[in-house]
Amino acid sequence: DPSGAGAVTAPAPVTVLAGPTAVGKGTVSAAIRAQYPEIWLSVSATTRAARPGEVDGVHYRFVEEEEFSRLIDTGQMLEWAVVHGHNKYGTPRGPVEEKVAEGRPVLLEIDLAGARQVRESLPDARFVFLAPPDWDTLVDRLVGRGTEDAQERERRLETAKVELAAESEFDVTIINDTVDRAAAELAGLIGVRDLT
Ligand code: 5GP
Repeated sequence: DPSGAGAVTAPAPVTVLAGPTAVGKGTVSAAIRAQYPEIWLSVSATTRAARPGEVDGVHYRFVEEEEFSRLIDTGQMLEWAVVHGHNKYGTPRGPVEEKVAEGRPVLLEIDLAGARQVRESLPDARFVFLAPPDWDTLVDRLVGRGTEDAQERERRLETAKVELAAESEFDVTIINDTVDRAAAELAGLIGVRDLT
């Protein structure tokens, strides 16, 4: 702090990005992965099946139920949750601790229940809520994505309503109006610039 007016605050090494379903967390994370390679994006383990184009070890670590349980039982999950009522998702602890030790900024893109667990285990993390510009935009994005059937969409919209109300638990809100702008704002918070 050149003015000497206050202490210099070290950047938080771990940033948690959460927000309602279909708000575009995955898209913003993909933009971060492509444009800000300095930020290490955690690879979650999940029991759900891979979608077309998803690569094991890049987008997720796709595991069987037994392997997921083993990761929990052996204390290897920083947090985990059942999302949308069926599939399990979790953040493997080891790689996060490794990157933090290296001083590398770490980004976790997880659901709200997971974010609450991280608040307990890593209270110094930075908690960012990704919000849609408005409710209609969120519904349009969920329908437009076309990856879920009608019943699953209904279930996710119900979840989204509850999740939108959680904004006040977060340190900062980023509006996902355009992906590049939201990603740039997030990278700015983390303290890195576009290196591409
Ligand atoms: P999708 O199946 O569409 O890829 O992801 C569904 C939801 O799972 C998203 O809300 C995403 O944020 C959440 N999710 C992905 N990885 C994790 C994780 O490691 N932990 C938790 N708690 N949620 C996750």
